[in-house]
Amino acid sequence: MIGRKHDCVYVNGAWQTAHSTDRIDLIDPATESWVASVVDGDAEDVAMAAAAARDALPGWAETSSTERANLIAALADAYDQRREEFASLVTAQNGAVISRSRRTNGTRPVALYRHYAEVARTFRAEAPGPNAQGIVRREPIGVVGIIIPWNAPQSLLAHKLGPALAAGCTVVVKPSPETSLDSLLIGEIATSVGFPAGVINVVTGGRTTGSALVEEHGIDMISFTGSTSAGRAIAARCGELLKPVVAELGGKSAAIVLDDADLSLFAEKLIATCLPNTGQVCYSCTRVIVPRSRFDEVLEVVTTTLGDAVLGSPQDPAASFGPLASATQRERVEEYIDSARAEGARVVLGGGRPAGLSTGYYVEPTVLIDVDRTMRVFREEIFGPVLVVVPHDGDEDAIRIANDSSYGLGGAVFSEDIERATDVARRMQTGGISINGQERSEAAPSSGYKDSGLGGDAGVDAHVQFKSIAWPPRTLIQGV
Ligand code: NAD
Repeated sequence: MIGRKHDCVYVNGAWQTAHSTDRIDLIDPATESWVASVVDGDAEDVAMAAAAARDALPGWAETSSTERANLIAALADAYDQRREEFASLVTAQNGAVISRSRRTNGTRPVALYRHYAEVARTFRAEAPGPNAQGIVRREPIGVVGIIIPWNAPQSLLAHKLGPALAAGCTVVVKPSPETSLDSLLIGEIATSVGFPAGVINVVTGGRTTGSALVEEHGIDMISFTGSTSAGRAIAARCGELLKPVVAELGGKSAAIVLDDADLSLFAEKLIATCLPNTGQVCYSCTRVIVPRSRFDEVLEVVTTTLGDAVLGSPQDPAASFGPLASATQRERVEEYIDSARAEGARVVLGGGRPAGLSTGYYVEPTVLIDVDRTMRVFREEIFGPVLVVVPHDGDEDAIRIANDSSYGLGGAVFSEDIERATDVARRMQTGGISINGQERSEAAPSSGYKDSGLGGDAGVDAHVQFKSIAWPPRTLIQGV
């Protein structure tokens, strides 16, 4: 995969030479060296993939729940065998530190595929209707166009592919150009474990390829994860086309530290909760809201923990912070830090490029205080290693500050009193909240509030079309 000029897309169970002659170069964000080039798919490539998915649809839709479950489980097993390869492949493309990539592009997708295999096993396409007067059917919605970002591509793909396949849909995947190679590999692995040709197709490319997927009349539904601005544009277009859309979008989440929090536990969970993947995770709690009475103490914990964390090559197993995924991403983050300074915030840690790392798109973990709630760094998603630390005057005030956001995706509460923390969490306008850094199970649904999503995480039922067949009383039909 690495070091090659790829001229193919993965369609109908095989590599197919692409119609498009445009290519995208993939660059290693740690070394700034060339990794590979991939096809920048055009509308013809998308149409070819959609046609293959459509041809495969009736056969796949008719497979039993058990057959689908067994194939998804086989995909999980095959992924598990090659999870180290996936983790390194993603790290080479997006610079995610290897310890994290081993989870988000290694063990987590395996767990997700195993979870969706069980969901498929218990999926019932047909059930008696209310009052036994007929039946209710859940038919696959059709061909699903999956568009994903680059930050944790394989977890995000599994999260979308799993329910679509379980429901009996076929798919066309459009990965982010930054992380194309791992998705192409999924197509190949799916065929090797026995998925029928055309059930999973992969067309690489950028925004134009994504737009072509949205426009393609052979695509029945769009399942998108990415930025709020792109999601808004896609959802608007899907509205015009009356094409169902699920959109999982950006965030600016809050970690609330209550006055009884155990700060050593908070320190232990800080990076995973607030700046995972060098801050390039949608649910990163980049607004840390701390009791005014303990502000200096908490700030000291934050700056010491981040200051001591290893920033360096993503291949270093000890590294907690690596480069940003692209030069553009670094520019964007630096621009936010400049805007904070210009608006009067104070940088108490980091704020620039690290000394001694002149190659690679690195930015130091950065902590800002004296941040006003009108500032861009408080309100907008930065998608980099930048935290704002803001004081609160009690639980009510903390909730008010946390909810003062147009986003509502993740969140965290730190407290020794789980009941009190849960009460705070209940009142936060956000989809997924961790208490004391507890990670969510793959089986636990959550969806973005406000600008963080539209119909997200609805699972299998987002991928079905309901049909009710009513019959006269006392009808007896065999098998129902
Ligand atoms: P992005 O929106 O720029 O791109 C995401 C994907 O959409 C890419 O594949 C891209 O090529 C495609 N795309 C972009 N514009 C498009 C358009 N107009 N039509 C069709 N396709 C289009 O996002 P990104 O920079 O790749 O990823 C970072 C963003 O993703 C952040 O905002 C982050 O919060 C969000 N994200 C959200 C979740 C979630 O579950 N809510 C998870 C991960 C990332």
